[in-house]
Amino acid sequence: MSSDSYDVIVIGAGNAAGCAAMSARDAGAEKVVMLERAPEDEAGGNTRFTAGAMRVVYDGVEDIQKLVELSDQEIADTDFGTYTKDQFFDDMFRITEYRTDPDMAEILVTKSLETLTWMRSKGIQFVPIYGRQAFKIDGKFKFWGGLTVETRGGGPGLYDALQDITKKNGIETLFETRAVDLIYDGAAVKGVRVKHNGKIRDLEAKSVVIASGGFQANPEWRTRYLGPGWDLAKIRGTRFNTGDGIRMATDIGAATYGNWSGCHAVGWDRNAPEFGDLAVGDQFQKHSYPFFIMVNATGKRFVDEGADFRNYTYAKYGRVILNQPAQFAWQVLDAKVAHMKRDEYSIRQVTKVTSDTIEGLADKLEGVNKEEFLKEVQAYNAAVRQDIDYNPNIKDGRRTEGLEINKSNWAMTIDTAPFEAYQVTCGVTFTFGGVRINTDGQVMDTDLLPIPGLYAAGECVGGLFYFNYPGGSGLTAGSVFGKLSGGSAGAAASA
Ligand SMILES: Cc1cc2nc3c(=O)[nH]c(=O)nc-3n(C[C@H](O)[C@H](O)[C@H](O)COP(=O)(O)OP(=O)(O)OC[C@H]3O[C@@H](n4cnc5c(N)ncnc54)[C@H](O)[C@@H]3O)c2cc1C
Repeated sequence: MSSDSYDVIVIGAGNAAGCAAMSARDAGAEKVVMLERAPEDEAGGNTRFTAGAMRVVYDGVEDIQKLVELSDQEIADTDFGTYTKDQFFDDMFRITEYRTDPDMAEILVTKSLETLTWMRSKGIQFVPIYGRQAFKIDGKFKFWGGLTVETRGGGPGLYDALQDITKKNGIETLFETRAVDLIYDGAAVKGVRVKHNGKIRDLEAKSVVIASGGFQANPEWRTRYLGPGWDLAKIRGTRFNTGDGIRMATDIGAATYGNWSGCHAVGWDRNAPEFGDLAVGDQFQKHSYPFFIMVNATGKRFVDEGADFRNYTYAKYGRVILNQPAQFAWQVLDAKVAHMKRDEYSIRQVTKVTSDTIEGLADKLEGVNKEEFLKEVQAYNAAVRQDIDYNPNIKDGRRTEGLEINKSNWAMTIDTAPFEAYQVTCGVTFTFGGVRINTDGQVMDTDLLPIPGLYAAGECVGGLFYFNYPGGSGLTAGSVFGKLSGGSAGAAASA
């Protein structure tokens, strides 16, 4: 370890941390360091597991061009549409059932384009998400769901770029260096106590930014805060986000905030490992369900698969799956919609069955009541409004009618061989509860006064997301609040 004294210490080395570190340097801090609990080959937190998709406000293709180099051909072949501030606000409020902290939501929305443009100016590259977020209809790609750009190389590309840029700017990452406590003199935070190679050591700092993620990889906290049964869920990302930063801050009196019983959780391969696997990334997810049906062990459907675009339902359906008997579901489809499967359906490590007949498929659906399943498919097929056109780019209203649980969009009969099914369980992405910050990114105490010297950003901060989440907001939130908190920390340290 090179030094014992810094201007700014950032705890973590994911996206929020990288943005905070860059911003602290911009604000004039000279000695900035990132502490990373993980060894180098597992470093980068959840950020490294992502596809790099980032939700950002844009008023048209001109704003996209602030982030992405587009060819004339791409511009001619693509309808980028818009994703205005109003649309992002509406999504944040609607999706969180009007619980999101309005001040935080305002920062997230209004600073999203400016922050991504700043990231690009630092050297982070973005590309349009053709494929996952735009389907080609009549020769033209059309983007839908407010999610249009991703970082080049996905999450690994983002992490590598952040490492390159911070290194070039003299910001070191100390790997296998776990922050265990904040050094606090009763008035201000003065540094971080770390554990490295089994030894405890104190690092001084004028400002500390906590960017160490949520507590999802801690089964005891999951059960304590999310509730019974959550210990049984799988973790989609890093094993290192066990709530350390949140615990350290609350130990010195930080206020907690947000939806502590809530989390982002998705349908995830039933046989995925306990934690994420960097070689597989986000590919254990199975996100084409809006075009299929899902059944549980009783053979019945249990949710409106087509309630909305995937971006607005996937983060809450993990909980719904966890609540099914034995915590699993099968996604079932036929040949007519097989082309709607995202790339994650073709990985080697997939729990999949196929058959040329629906009866044959029913025999292979492990744990499912066969007779009830066949009745369910029959009733579902009979309820599909075949007179309405199918269009995956819009909420097409092609629905079922008369079922206990109807499907609102993209309903297609299941009758054309071959038939396929994919088994999923609940995979937790990140937890929503965290510490409370003010609009300068300072951590607040339980009297709602800022704790001098302490800042936070990313998944360890509560208040933005409740119940659900608009896809691609996690990275954007980490960037926006990382830039904000790092900037405040850097300015305070160099004042
Ligand atoms: C499979 C998957 C796919 C996803 N896809 C997307 C997507 O496409 N778009 C999107 O917006 N979001 C996505 N997310 C969510 C996204 O990953 C997060 O919102 C975002 O990366 C959080 O950034 P962060 O910096 O707050 O946390 P992280 O990136 O998790 O970083 C936390 C850091 O803190 C470190 N740390 C933890 N404890 C300590 C300690 N005690 N001392 C030192 N270091 C510590 C960790 O090792 C890590 O480096 C996805 C998540 C997963 C798991």
